[in-house]
Amino acid sequence: MNRRGGKSPHSFKRGNKSSQRKPKSTLKSHNFIHREVQPPEVSTHVAEYSYTDLDLHANLQHNIKEKGYTKPTPIQEQTIPPILRGEDVLGIAQTGSGKTAAFLIPLLDKLAKNQDENILILAPTRELAEQINEEFRSLGKKLGLFSVLCVGGQSMRKQIELIEKGSRMVIGTPGRIMDLTEKGKLDISRMSTIVLDEVDRMLDMGFIEDIRYLIREFPEERHSLFFSATLDPKIQALMQEFLKPSYKEVKLQDSPSSDHIHQDIVTYSHPEEKQRKLKELLEDYQEDGKVLVFANTKKGVDFLERNLQKLNFAAIGIHGDKEQRERKRTLNQFKSGESNILIATDVAARGLDINNVSMVVNYDAPDNYDDYIHRIGRTGRAGAIGKARTFVEE
Ligand code: AMP
Repeated sequence: MNRRGGKSPHSFKRGNKSSQRKPKSTLKSHNFIHREVQPPEVSTHVAEYSYTDLDLHANLQHNIKEKGYTKPTPIQEQTIPPILRGEDVLGIAQTGSGKTAAFLIPLLDKLAKNQDENILILAPTRELAEQINEEFRSLGKKLGLFSVLCVGGQSMRKQIELIEKGSRMVIGTPGRIMDLTEKGKLDISRMSTIVLDEVDRMLDMGFIEDIRYLIREFPEERHSLFFSATLDPKIQALMQEFLKPSYKEVKLQDSPSSDHIHQDIVTYSHPEEKQRKLKELLEDYQEDGKVLVFANTKKGVDFLERNLQKLNFAAIGIHGDKEQRERKRTLNQFKSGESNILIATDVAARGLDINNVSMVVNYDAPDNYDDYIHRIGRTGRAGAIGKARTFVEE
């Protein structure tokens, strides 16, 4: 693993409790072991149509081409036509499936062709909202459209200015959108389309009442598009409450296989040993790639960031308490490879478009199996064999 500079490593300090204040995982060691790695599944999907078969605005077609999208991904293939027809959609899709363009392509077409169209997109985190906004800007070039990104940590005044200027695409997180509606600056009752991205995450983060409130503010005659990585009966019931009875459910696969990810545990019996073994794991990790380290708390992330940096690893941390600008910089640093170790909480990592991770380290074991699968799914993408290591107390 690359290190910054050539300084000799500092040793860890004893007795730092911050990384240990975390909920106990209910999972057992065997959940984290899978040593018989299967070759990765290669997608044999052949799209039944190409974008050019669709009646999309010419400039949108041009932008899709310019982005290098040659054929629709499976989620796009199944969701674009019903959205273009105005049908409600419940899409079950993970980050990395191309789900953002799956709703943005038909919605951009609607915006370009219908001046009365007003859209609200809700995402659980600022980063995801930003990614959606970036995709909107690149796919929406030369269509005479502009969006307003309404997330916390940024000037509300500028957001209000853009709303008042007549932005017909509002992308934001539930908290800031609630603030703007309560202040009377955003009139949702005049909007026509609502998109909820990563519904499962929004519910996990406790946004359920905000979401109910916001959907109810919409007119009865609305177009609703809901996306979620998982679909348990609770989510399904909630979504059905707000979707038209004729809604289309698009489900691609039950859950992504992790058979191609080599999974093993790292045992430790006391905190110093845990820290030492992380250092050894990163030192021994010679492959040229990126490592994503999960901690369960924000303090845990800060603690690991400090300690790994002291050891001269090019490590950076990301969590919800960091300034928006700092989180963006961190993410870019990791994406560009300037820092090759990213330490994150589940919430901060969820939805981020980080795909080429060669090893996932669960420094703190996840609370449940869903989170575990989601975490390790960051490695072993695009036909590669992945690697995951989970720390387990003996
Ligand atoms: P998402 O699941 O929306 O986060 O998208 C994951 C990545 O796939 C993003 O980097 C997109 O730019 C990319 N992407 C989306 N649609 C396509 C496509 N049709 N062909 C190739 N890449 C795509």
